[in-house]
Amino acid sequence: MNEEISKLIALQEIDTEIAGFDKQISEKQQEITDRQQSIADKQEQINQCREKVSALEQRQREVKAEHEDAAARIKDRQNKMMQVQTSREHQALLKEIEDAKRLIKESQEQLTLIMEQAEQLENQAAELENLCKGEEELLAEETTKVNNAVKKITTRKKSVAKKREKLAAELSPSLLKRYNLLLSKRHGMAVVATRDGVCQGCFMAIPPQQFNEVRKGDKMSICPTCHRILYFQEEESETADA
Ligand SMILES: [Zn+2]
Repeated sequence: MNEEISKLIALQEIDTEIAGFDKQISEKQQEITDRQQSIADKQEQINQCREKVSALEQRQREVKAEHEDAAARIKDRQNKMMQVQTSREHQALLKEIEDAKRLIKESQEQLTLIMEQAEQLENQAAELENLCKGEEELLAEETTKVNNAVKKITTRKKSVAKKREKLAAELSPSLLKRYNLLLSKRHGMAVVATRDGVCQGCFMAIPPQQFNEVRKGDKMSICPTCHRILYFQEEESETADA
């Protein structure tokens, strides 16, 4: 096989390896991001619980004030009862007292309901806080693990990158430029094998005459569809299937 093609194949292998490292690193970092998001979501829920509780507390104060007003009104009307002359005035005061008593009863029911709701929300917030605490501990452990793993991957990546640098220096600058451009435009796959006359980059058939040239491997061949650099790979399945 043409030496340039062999080098391009080797370079592609290295770049695939480097892309694999990058993928591993971003997957590891994604785990951390997911955990952080989960904690942030719970903290948001906790905040919402607390906001609802403080709204309930505000409502509680209002109901209590209404309650106290009504109690004062009852006292006041009861005092006035002693002084009234007509039965009409007496009836009017009685009605006011009844209304105030009803209001007190209603406000007591409301207060009970408010306290129940507030307690429920407090419990919910406490439960979420517990979960958060657990998740934060896990996150701290996981962050250490991920940092170590990323360090290892980065070290391996660096040594592979050195290999790449060395190999890239052996290629002509124009060919390297073309290869790099293809690599970035074709999702990290610039050099691909052919199989049964089909480009393994875009899976389109290569004209038979061109395929023969690829098979010979004397000169560089470009896929007419995706423009990737093609090479012929002995098919393992040919013997396995036979
Ligand atoms: Zn192709």
